[in-house]
Amino acid sequence: MLVTMKEILDRASKENYAVPAPNVCMELDARAMIEAAEDLNAPIILDVAWSTTPDLEFFGKYLTKLCEESAVPIAINLDHGAEFAHAIAAIRAGFTSIMVDRSSAPYEDNVREVKELVKAAHAVGVSVEAELGHVGQGSQYETDRNAALTDPSQAKTYVEETGVDCLAVAIGTAHGTYSGTPYLDFERLAEIKEILGQDFPLVLHGGSGTGDEALKKAARMGINKINLACDLFKSACVGIEEAGLTGNGYYSVYEVAKQSEKNYMKKMLKLFGTEGKAWKVERQAKAHVITSNEEK
Ligand SMILES: [Zn+2]
Repeated sequence: MLVTMKEILDRASKENYAVPAPNVCMELDARAMIEAAEDLNAPIILDVAWSTTPDLEFFGKYLTKLCEESAVPIAINLDHGAEFAHAIAAIRAGFTSIMVDRSSAPYEDNVREVKELVKAAHAVGVSVEAELGHVGQGSQYETDRNAALTDPSQAKTYVEETGVDCLAVAIGTAHGTYSGTPYLDFERLAEIKEILGQDFPLVLHGGSGTGDEALKKAARMGINKINLACDLFKSACVGIEEAGLTGNGYYSVYEVAKQSEKNYMKKMLKLFGTEGKAWKVERQAKAHVITSNEEK
């Protein structure tokens, strides 16, 4: 079932668990993630990045079809929407959520640009994620870790001003492979959750390489969406390597990669407390629209 990210995250924050948001680049990833979620009766969020999948229209149509036919609630989110045009293209392609990432811009610009897209997205029932503070790159972790952690008091004003549905916070994670040992600022997380309220969903980027225990703790302390990319892709590579496929093992590469990704995601769904959290989606019939002809 295709649902908005808000529907998924509002439940997760109320019931205090996190939903994995794996990056999917193609059919293989998407099917592996959906099957893992179905096997464990869990909701899931598919993150799609324009940088890896620029044909949002094609992939969006493909993913919406898969999700509509799925047995569990799934949202499709544009990951790190950097351009206004990408966000609009994602909405047009059927994504049920967009991340508008202006975390590198000055605060006032971040608020103004996010607010603009919140208005457009909410008008057509699409959820919006934004980021305050900045989650940097793991390759510069030792120097950048403390550069732009989320300020809890600013978070409250930011959410009120922008009207976003969930907030990505910088609490010590980074994207990609860490150059040092990651450590999370759980006190800061607790403070942000307290100030925004238990029911407001928080997002953690840079889940890969952060460590199972830290992710589990974050999921119990108010993080409701955890983005995973590198570790997911790594699981596929390790699976292929271990299978020792060569020569005419070509076709098996896909099956091994898919199974490895699926196993990895099932582990994360259990770790984050998402297993068994799927619900039956009930849709009301759309209200009858009165056209100008009928009014006459
Ligand atoms: Zn990210």
